[in-house]
Amino acid sequence: MKPFDYARADSLATATRDGAVPGARFIAGGTNLLDLMKLQVETPDTLVDISRLDLGEIEAREDGGLTIGALVPNSDLAADARVIQRYPVLSRALLAGASGQLRNKASTGGNLLQRTRCYYFYDPATPCNKRDPGSGCSAIGGENRILAILGTSDQCIATHPSDMAVAMRALDAVIVTRKPDGDRRRIAIGEFYRLPGATPEIENVLERGELITHVELPPAPRGRQTYRKVRDRASYAFALVSIAGIVAVEDGRIASARLAFGGLGPMPWRNEAVEQALVGQAPSDTAFNAAANALLADAKRYGSNDFKIPLTRRTLIATLRELTQEG
Ligand SMILES: Cc1cc2nc3c(=O)[nH]c(=O)nc-3n(C[C@H](O)[C@H](O)[C@H](O)COP(=O)(O)OP(=O)(O)OC[C@H]3O[C@@H](n4cnc5c(N)ncnc54)[C@H](O)[C@@H]3O)c2cc1C
Ligand code: SF4
Repeated sequence: MKPFDYARADSLATATRDGAVPGARFIAGGTNLLDLMKLQVETPDTLVDISRLDLGEIEAREDGGLTIGALVPNSDLAADARVIQRYPVLSRALLAGASGQLRNKASTGGNLLQRTRCYYFYDPATPCNKRDPGSGCSAIGGENRILAILGTSDQCIATHPSDMAVAMRALDAVIVTRKPDGDRRRIAIGEFYRLPGATPEIENVLERGELITHVELPPAPRGRQTYRKVRDRASYAFALVSIAGIVAVEDGRIASARLAFGGLGPMPWRNEAVEQALVGQAPSDTAFNAAANALLADAKRYGSNDFKIPLTRRTLIATLRELTQEG
């Protein structure tokens, strides 16, 4: 590991000041950043340790939603009674991720900002535009079984690996930040991540030194919630395809639908056309197939990930059957 300086932040002001210095990186649980440093994929000059900041609470909001501190561990968030009762999709998504030990260390902010699991990104001996801009993409034409079919570019086909973020996308979470000048921003999760385009190394809209302080969840949406994750092993594996689904059926028709997808794109994926294909319809495989058609209309195959297209269709139909069945 390359030598680095270490600074423990004791306030938001010192954290954002120190984090704004070129070559600095925030560290929370360290479960992703330290792995990347060991492989020399990340080589920060300074680690700004934010783990002692006062951002570890989950608080009720006046509107009936929740405010989640950026340092709330994944395990605490999954076990919170309000989350289990009102946002079961989020609790299930968290419990589908990583392992118990990792979830104890992994933070809410760090989970949102974890880097892709593309094999080539982790191997500095191979070209990778995300790790080394302009060097090329080894995954296109290479081993891309776990990589994206939606939102890709000819520069990068990486997926975002977070389960938690997929549930938060379905819940319309808002990410709250603080900049080094003290300004605060509230960013809808749908506006937070960037498509790879020609600059896959820029993954989100955060500016240098900008710290995630909280995530806000709006009041729980109506309807039944689930999180379905398909992976190579029953646990301790990233999603090949995952779906956060929240669907309400009233008078025999789908009254509202929120569907977000993991394992398919460079960000937790949501497409209004998928939801529009369902709303107003009676639950049926015809309607579910129309939703899958809308989702997969622009899907691209890259070889070893071709199987994700039929797998996604089957997983979406199974999820919609589960969410709309009576009883
Ligand atoms: C073996 C293994 C299996 C895993 N399986 C899964 C899985 O199935 N599903 C899943 O979703 N995840 C999985 N994970 C990933 C795990 O969830 C993430 O590593 C973890 O959530 C990252 O949180 P952290 O606090 O440790 O982040 P860190 O490693 O501390 O930081 C990650 C990044 O976020 C930045 N950062 C952290 N906090 C902030 C903040 N508040 N503001 C701004 N920047 C910040 C850091 O600078 C860094 O760039 C797995 C990890 C491992 C090692
Ligand atoms: S898919 Fe993206 S992360 Fe993977 S090798 Fe290509 S550029 Fe790098």
